[in-house]
Amino acid sequence: MTRLLLRNFREVPDVALSASGIRIRSADGREVIDGSGGAAVACLGHAHPAVLEAIRRQIEKVCYVHTGFYVGEPVEALAEHLVGHEPGGLTHAYFVSSGSEGVETAIKLARQYALETGQPQREHVIGRRQSYHGNTLGALGAGGNLVRRPPYAPILPQASSHVSPCYPYREQRAGEDDAAYVKRLADELEAEFQRIGPNRVMAFIAEPVVGATLGCQAALPGYFKAVREICDRHGALLILDEVMCGLGRTGTLHAWEQEGVAPDIQVIAKGLGGGYQPIGGILAAGRVVEAIRAGSGIHRHGHTYAAHPVACAAALAVQQVIHEENLVEQVAIRGRQLETALKRRLGQHPNVGDIRGRGLFWAMELVEDRETKTPFAPELGMNGRVKLATYARGLACYPVGGTIDGVRGDHVLLAPPYITTEDEIETIADLMAAGIDDAVKGLPRSAT
Ligand code: PMP
Repeated sequence: MTRLLLRNFREVPDVALSASGIRIRSADGREVIDGSGGAAVACLGHAHPAVLEAIRRQIEKVCYVHTGFYVGEPVEALAEHLVGHEPGGLTHAYFVSSGSEGVETAIKLARQYALETGQPQREHVIGRRQSYHGNTLGALGAGGNLVRRPPYAPILPQASSHVSPCYPYREQRAGEDDAAYVKRLADELEAEFQRIGPNRVMAFIAEPVVGATLGCQAALPGYFKAVREICDRHGALLILDEVMCGLGRTGTLHAWEQEGVAPDIQVIAKGLGGGYQPIGGILAAGRVVEAIRAGSGIHRHGHTYAAHPVACAAALAVQQVIHEENLVEQVAIRGRQLETALKRRLGQHPNVGDIRGRGLFWAMELVEDRETKTPFAPELGMNGRVKLATYARGLACYPVGGTIDGVRGDHVLLAPPYITTEDEIETIADLMAAGIDDAVKGLPRSAT
């Protein structure tokens, strides 16, 4: 019996007693490798001494102040660390407590930008099918998640619509080369702008590397350049959601660096505080901020816990460790090892259709039949089975799933901490492969 209103009423989660490095120990004495850093959060692993010390110091000085009166000492330093060198023209930061709040902030900033620039008719957000941008109503509306969105569809606030994601494994046609597929997607986005009315769209939102719905799916080369060009031509802002894929996770500090385009607004969260404190935020382009400064001069948004001093102290320490220990470069190196290790063990596995990702952000798409790409029946909950089987062997991986026209696409995601060693990468790949085998063996006979 649990009194927690968690996901379902059957599974009572294990109680985590302690965690350090890449390992978590539970009350039943078991130790598990945190192979996905929770939901791609724990980028430094657990109990990093520099972060613990920064939190301790901040708690002793100031736990909380309201931004209407004060900011805590680390807040400006965190903003300076992130945008002091104006990466991609991003000049300002704003800090909230989660990824969803970051997405809400981004959407509202896009709307305010439209108003401040004399375009009140811009009220529509275009997102992509099978996307997830958070569970609050505005973020849920911007997303195209076919599982989480429908129950709330009648009460979602802003006007939004969705175009196809870049999902070569399932949606690139036979004989269609990469350039032709990218052009087809760009044409679809252009057509959607025309359908809505190009001057009614305030923003397009997408993840540079899709995490929770498509399983570590990066776009093909040229896709984001085409998207950027369409947004610019129609005067819409480009919001890139790097809640999961940002801050080093894909082998560059920002995932957009690998696309050669920068956003107008970037959302950050998980890798920002590494789970040491709940924190998310946005980074905004100079031209967006300047329009507001020259207009009303007021950012019309705010939260009680915005720029929370302890959360910002933790995030600053996390970002400093990433910078000082060259962990982004380390992610790129370990990422190549993880890719090789996974492909060696699972590359020909009959139930692994695709292995994809970047940096330390990898997913396996699980299929009933590798040749035909037939997904497992949704009622089998295959990604959940793999999660349990792998957990039983001592590895936590993150089950994620999209829905393709009512058919479940099962994925399991790995996002190990940036401090994972070469040996641990091999262990993670071993346990992952064994967990998938166990789950397949455990299927009801009729399903195999
Ligand atoms: N955007 C993306 C891309 C995410 O993956 C998530 C969480 N998985 C969110 C937004 C929402 O973040 P949070 O759960 O912190 O509200």
